[in-house]
Amino acid sequence: MRTALASLLLIAATAHADEPLSAAQRFAREAIIVDTHIDAPSELMKQWRDLGVDAPGVEFDYPRARQGGLDVAFMSIYTSPEDDAAGTARQKAHMQIDAVEALAARHPDRFALLRSPADVERLSQNRRVLLALGMENGAPIGDDLAQLEVFHRRGVRYVTLAHSHSNRIADGSYSLDRPHGGLSPFGEQVVKEMNRLGIMVDVSHLSDDAVRDVLRVTKAPVIASHSGMRRFTPGFERNLSDALAKAIAKNGGVVQIVFGSGFIDARAAADTTAYFRALAAFQRELEAARARGETPAKTLAQFDAEWDAAHPKPETRIEQVVAQIDHAVKLLGEDHVGIGSDFDGVGGALPVGLKSVADYPNLIEALRQRGYSDERLRKILGGNLLRVWREVEARAEKR
Ligand SMILES: [Zn+2]
Repeated sequence: MRTALASLLLIAATAHADEPLSAAQRFAREAIIVDTHIDAPSELMKQWRDLGVDAPGVEFDYPRARQGGLDVAFMSIYTSPEDDAAGTARQKAHMQIDAVEALAARHPDRFALLRSPADVERLSQNRRVLLALGMENGAPIGDDLAQLEVFHRRGVRYVTLAHSHSNRIADGSYSLDRPHGGLSPFGEQVVKEMNRLGIMVDVSHLSDDAVRDVLRVTKAPVIASHSGMRRFTPGFERNLSDALAKAIAKNGGVVQIVFGSGFIDARAAADTTAYFRALAAFQRELEAARARGETPAKTLAQFDAEWDAAHPKPETRIEQVVAQIDHAVKLLGEDHVGIGSDFDGVGGALPVGLKSVADYPNLIEALRQRGYSDERLRKILGGNLLRVWREVEARAEKR
């Protein structure tokens, strides 16, 4: 809990409008910053908070978004493979969208919902933070293509086709079983329908074969909303190989570099791979125990807590995110790289100096020290993503 003194200091720091800002802070406020992956809606489902005011304990709220210069925040509408199995994914997705709408309605002076890149300039006047919707896991669609139109009407502008398990649409990178060998036949229809509606296809979390299949089927550029470069985490399929990243860029798309320690540190990434193997074994044990009519010795939550205690996330540095961005820019060119933090989605496992939406200026400063020009920074911070979004919108069937 924040002490009274710390609160006062924070208020003093944010209230002093005449206090000189650093060059990086000024640039962050002036440039359009688009972060394509913030898990605030999931946090709201766990515990209600008002994110329009100081919200200690989470990584996204209005005061810190303004402090960090964030303009467009893609709210992740996340559902798990467990939700999918239980048949609750669609319900949970709608509830999260309701929560984002409620936040914007409660603070019309601070937030607005963003449905088109054409509205960024108009809606962001008066320092509003724009909330766009990205759906993480195509589970809420079920096996009903018409649901894509339903969610598009509600404002969803990208869909991450699968999450940690393979689903009806595609194989996931963490999944031990790969029922489709990439994209399923239904998944191909999903990609085509997303192209038709103007929803960006997000290949983060997919297996390599699924990414290749998406690129074969899509008629519009695609995004990776929150991925790292596998070069730094050998063997970690959740991050993009140089070859796949290049294929995404060649197709006009953009790779949004993730900040989470688990994606940028080789040991943490290896731990994640080991976790999904151990989890699969644990789930087999659970099922076997239930089949015998026994009560399992521990719950999934206990398994997770024990795993986390035995595998603490290493401390990471902002320079590791910079190295990822720099490698991607050298490989793909400055027009195909962006940022997708995964704030509120990684249990606080983030680099020192990059802990919340207040901290984009620290990243800007570190990139400037590497010699990044203002023009290049503008592209990476948001310009590239907005270009891809406009192109996906332009290629949608006019209705
Ligand atoms: Zn994710």
